[in-house]
Amino acid sequence: MTTTSTLSGTPVVPGAKYGPAVWPAPRPTADTSAGPVPDDERDAEVERYETAATAVAERLRERARVADGVAAEVLSATAGLATDRGLRGTVAKRIRDGSRADVAVADATDEFAAMFKQAGGVMAERVTDLNDLRDRVIAEVQGKEEPGIPSPDEPSILLADDLAPADTAGLDVGKVIALATELGGPTSHTAIIARQMGLPCVVAVDGLGDVASGTHVLVDGMAGEVVVEPDPEAAEARVRESAEAMAAVDSWTGPCQTSDGHAVGLLANVQDGAAATRAAEGVAEGIGLFRTELCFLEVAEEPTVEEQASIYGEVLQAFPDAKVVVRTLDAGSDKPLKFAGLPDEPNPALGVRGLRISEDEPDLLEHQLDGIEAAAEQTGTSPWVMAPMVATVDEARRFAEKVRARGLTPGVMVEIPATALMAEKILAEVEFFSIGTNDLTQYTMAADRMSAELASLTDPWQPAVLDLVAKTAAAGTAQGKSVGVCGEAAADPLLAIVLVGMGIATLSAATAALPAVGAKLASVDLATCQRAAEAALASDSPAEARAAVREVLDG
Ligand code: PEP
Ligand code: MG
Repeated sequence: MTTTSTLSGTPVVPGAKYGPAVWPAPRPTADTSAGPVPDDERDAEVERYETAATAVAERLRERARVADGVAAEVLSATAGLATDRGLRGTVAKRIRDGSRADVAVADATDEFAAMFKQAGGVMAERVTDLNDLRDRVIAEVQGKEEPGIPSPDEPSILLADDLAPADTAGLDVGKVIALATELGGPTSHTAIIARQMGLPCVVAVDGLGDVASGTHVLVDGMAGEVVVEPDPEAAEARVRESAEAMAAVDSWTGPCQTSDGHAVGLLANVQDGAAATRAAEGVAEGIGLFRTELCFLEVAEEPTVEEQASIYGEVLQAFPDAKVVVRTLDAGSDKPLKFAGLPDEPNPALGVRGLRISEDEPDLLEHQLDGIEAAAEQTGTSPWVMAPMVATVDEARRFAEKVRARGLTPGVMVEIPATALMAEKILAEVEFFSIGTNDLTQYTMAADRMSAELASLTDPWQPAVLDLVAKTAAAGTAQGKSVGVCGEAAADPLLAIVLVGMGIATLSAATAALPAVGAKLASVDLATCQRAAEAALASDSPAEARAAVREVLDG
């Protein structure tokens, strides 16, 4: 009997594939046990290295010639590193000082990798290219076969610590059907090439190293999961479901509505003008959450009202005729702001955070609202403005007064169970609600949203969370005011159906997540959404709720 386990990582390319795992062949290592090269052999050793580096560069260039697009660029870039004069000079110097060619290559690579890492950003991501080059040159110097990807006999899932771009560029997509790596980021070369090749890909998968070659795995590039030894039938069903969903997502262009025409506002979560502009190029109908604190994480002094107005204006301009919801600073907890004068607290998630900062520092909020008002005037727009971490009727009332005094539309986030329980009274003070399911889940379940161990508790499908969301939505329906969701729950297409069934009017999520949500909603009518909501609310656990909703959709 086999046991199924699910490993989590960062989703890079959506799509689900199932098959046996393969790992690349082990990479060569420099032989550090051999003594120094005798004086009179050092020139020849340099020559040996130069010949090897040239041969590797040539092979990479040859592959670049037959590849296209980004793959060709990556291969050429790695070939370029192989002929880099700085790197070659450093290796040659080390050999002249007595190192063997393979050891000199390894040491020089470490030296360059440290410099690249220190430079950060794009340079740091090139460390994978550099290490790949090292292994190829060492193999060449040692007279071994060039390291690389095996060519499996049957369609397989390639697992690796981190794939070298030169490897991924040479992949046979008929044989390698998905990728998962233990390291690497969403902007690494591996990720870029996987995207170009349309290969489902998950990176930064914790525990992947324990999955042996030959083990059957399911890679889900949408969920960011690697399921080890899944039930084969369930895995095949998930592969089919994913293919259908992706086809629907690709052809979906909005506007967002259920199959019977019930409109749902599909909005984007952004942190600056650039993200808002990108959102406007896609299917987003507006901005549902502008996290203003993220504009100032590195800023030591409070920005002036004019500076703030210019930053906020960039976001407002991206959607001049649509809804834009600006959230006032949610500093504190995991988002410390240097200028917010936050106290040192043992439990900052339950401390002075979000709107609570304005108790001690009222000017921060006043200045920010002035900045938003100025931005609205300059852009000729009418943003909605909401406060994070509101817990009482009085807080909502005082915030709304300040916002209305500036001619703006006030709302509050529902992130604390108290707010959901008092939804009717608090909503009466403002014009709209936006439910932050990330924090609402954390505070309802008393489980830190950052904790990997507590992931099953910090699941917005928890019945207690769904119950509070439903209560909040009902207050909106009763008072004819908009209640949206702007936490991660809004990015889950299945949960979106439940939320709409509860009466949620808008869903706001990362731009990339929106087409899948829109396409899913287009596939069901409002009555089905309502039945799905009832089924989820009647469940005892997240797993039961998901299964119950799937059953409603299948029936
Ligand atoms: C939330 O809590 O769900 C939310 C949207 O706010 P943030 O993630 O910024 O805390
Ligand atoms: Mg929050």
